[in-house]
Amino acid sequence: MLNFYSIYLEDAVNEIAKLPGIGRRTALRLALFVAKNEEEEVVRLSEALLKLKTHLTTCQHCFNLSDDINCHICDNPKRDKNTVCVVQDIRDVMAIENTNQYKGVYHVLGGVISPIDGIGPKQLKLAELFQRIEEEDIKELILALPATVEGDTTNFYIHKNVKEKVPVITLLSRGVGVGEELEYTDEITLGRSLLTRIEFERTYGKVED
Ligand SMILES: [Zn+2]
Repeated sequence: MLNFYSIYLEDAVNEIAKLPGIGRRTALRLALFVAKNEEEEVVRLSEALLKLKTHLTTCQHCFNLSDDINCHICDNPKRDKNTVCVVQDIRDVMAIENTNQYKGVYHVLGGVISPIDGIGPKQLKLAELFQRIEEEDIKELILALPATVEGDTTNFYIHKNVKEKVPVITLLSRGVGVGEELEYTDEITLGRSLLTRIEFERTYGKVED
């Protein structure tokens, strides 16, 4: 146990140590850095954190992170609204955007179907996806979910529900290895997986019927 000799330092360390991946020693180093820093820098840091919490929201259309009702991708007239890439979470949007290979729009599910974790279709933005498919002219749906059992289950579920409504349903080619999360794949591999995506039915055949 660390001895702090200051309730202010101890409080700061306790709060910083709640952040993921930050142990108490790192928290102490950060707290001491803040204590020594210029006051205006510290004010800027606290204001940035507070604004992040109060202003950052999710896009009402695709559920990406957004500062507004719609995110900058949905709002961009240059993006191809006929192509929708379905991802697990916003980190995957960032990973795909970093490849500079994708000009369509997204739909962020907020996870994948995982009964063992109590996550069924209702816990995800699947109804919203199906509604988008009813209302919008979506020509291709790209399923860019993790190459895991849960990702596959979710792919099957989506395919079963929309195969009559979307002309083309594709999967990222498995340059993204089995069990890998998109965000851990390097940009070149992920970009290639997007460009060489394959039709869902060619990968899985008709096994689900
Ligand atoms: Zn959006």
